[in-house]
Amino acid sequence: NEFVREEFSKGALRNKTVEDVLTPLDKCFMLNANAVLDFKSMSMIMQSGYTRIPVYEEERTNLVDMLYVKDLALVDPDDCVPLSTISKFYNHPLHFVFNDTKLDAVLEEFKRGKSHLAIVQKVNNEGEGDPFYEAIGLVTLEDVIEEIIRSE
Ligand code: ATP
Ligand code: ATP
Repeated sequence: NEFVREEFSKGALRNKTVEDVLTPLDKCFMLNANAVLDFKSMSMIMQSGYTRIPVYEEERTNLVDMLYVKDLALVDPDDCVPLSTISKFYNHPLHFVFNDTKLDAVLEEFKRGKSHLAIVQKVNNEGEGDPFYEAIGLVTLEDVIEEIIRSE
């Protein structure tokens, strides 16, 4: 029984990809780099409940930084600091994975790396121009663990 369960969860990790478990970009709580950290926006960030918040420039697919909620510990909302000042100061690295990465591979990535969140990219070859990488969502360790639990 244990053996069967183990094989089953391994199967789910081997056969499923990050695209099966990601949080799609349009559902992600993200911030525009030119937002100002005033009382209103800082309250909104706190209320979102997320620990890591992608920061974009111009378009939501153009992710440039990651804000950790703990970066706000020393920010005074009365100073109305631009978000980009804070996100550039902490400069947390962004981690990218491709949409077709298998869950066991991304789990290894998460174990190796420091971050437990990755931005999921896909090759966009629709339209006239050259193909380009486009962000389609984000995946965290929790998404992978949930899939393991679900498959048991
Ligand atoms: P932590 O548990 O480390 O405090 P968290 O609660 O912010 O972090 P996770 O637990 O890693 O986030 O993930 C929980 C779920 O929320 C996952 O499905 C993940 O894809 C999703 N998620 C994480 N960050 C965001 C975000 N900024 N916007 C929308 N969904 C997110
Ligand atoms: P996060 O990764 O969500 O930012 P964190 O880095 O504070 O949170 P975890 O990643 O959950 O903490 O845990 C990392 C390790 O640090 C674990 O071994 C945990 O038991 C330990 N740890 C967490 N908080 C404390 C604390 N206040 N004092 C000592 N050890 C802690």
